[in-house]
Amino acid sequence: MKALTIDQLVRSNIKALKPYQSARKEYTASNGIFLDANENPFGELNRYPDPQQLMLKTKLAALKETSIDSIFIGNGSDEIIDLAIRIFCEPEKDKIIICKPTYGMYEVCANINNVRIINIPLKPEFQPDKEKIINCGAKILFLCSPNNPTGNSLIDLESIISEFNGIVFLDEAYIDFSSSPSLLKKLRLYPNLIISQTLSKAWAGAAIRTGVAFSSPEIINYFNKIKPPYNVSNLNQMAALEILSKKDEMEYRVKIIVDERQRIAKELANTGHFSQIYDSDANFLLVACSDAEYLHNYFKENGVIIRNRSSEISNTLRISIGKPEENDKLLFILNKYINEKSTVY
Ligand SMILES: *Cc1c(COP(=O)(O)O)cnc(C)c1O
Repeated sequence: MKALTIDQLVRSNIKALKPYQSARKEYTASNGIFLDANENPFGELNRYPDPQQLMLKTKLAALKETSIDSIFIGNGSDEIIDLAIRIFCEPEKDKIIICKPTYGMYEVCANINNVRIINIPLKPEFQPDKEKIINCGAKILFLCSPNNPTGNSLIDLESIISEFNGIVFLDEAYIDFSSSPSLLKKLRLYPNLIISQTLSKAWAGAAIRTGVAFSSPEIINYFNKIKPPYNVSNLNQMAALEILSKKDEMEYRVKIIVDERQRIAKELANTGHFSQIYDSDANFLLVACSDAEYLHNYFKENGVIIRNRSSEISNTLRISIGKPEENDKLLFILNKYINEKSTVY
């Protein structure tokens, strides 16, 4: 980012905003008789959660080797995407860049906020089109690496981040499955970078809706300023702490999933049925075949649900990697399909 400060990118109403002052933010000690927040004195879930999620952030800061003031926790990554757009983008005026095919929520959140969208499609190898991106004057560039639904990691990210004159929102939801490193270690080099991660994928915590953003304290402050005061429930905070205390288990499971991904990719290739099995750095595989829609339905009739992505990339299916026995079932059904097909013709 050249010649621009974060303050110049933030919407003026957000800069001027006087944030809501919650009772639990004003008084943070845990001892005392609490008669300040109109809570019910009875019951077990009667108290508002810590609005700053300090225990959870402390755990995350240690795990990710960063500081608490560089971390924001959202009610899923989806809340983080929405807040980022609301911090920087003036409705009907400012623009975001998305690079299709990619995760659908960037576009949806922009549309909800009535913010304009420029699509600069990924190039043939599903890589961002740097020249076009740099020169198009948008407030936020959304990039997803490894990308959903293509599965590949994006290259040349750092040169894009340093040359783009706006915020780069880098979605690393699948980074723990990837052979490429996270850019988190280099966060300090790029004042315009927001990195988004989640407990939903590698950490197996989709149910608790916990997304995490890492950025400069200056940008994190704006997230804190506009978030709903108690956006992460106490139950979520407790569950997230529990999940994050089992890093070994996470790594063990990720290894199983990555091994299974290689195995499935090979087995799918061996069937000769697919015109493409895209390389994946994530916990899913994107495959192409001429009968994608039909095959998708065939799987469904046989009790295996995969995702038809043909609306994004013609004739493609996205297959999440399951447990080994689930993947065996997938392969069994595929072989059944191929055999039936060859007997019909
Ligand atoms: C699954 C996914 C997420 C996770 O979203 P949560 O709201 O944290 O569950 C984020 N980004 C991408 C690209 C994803 O595929």
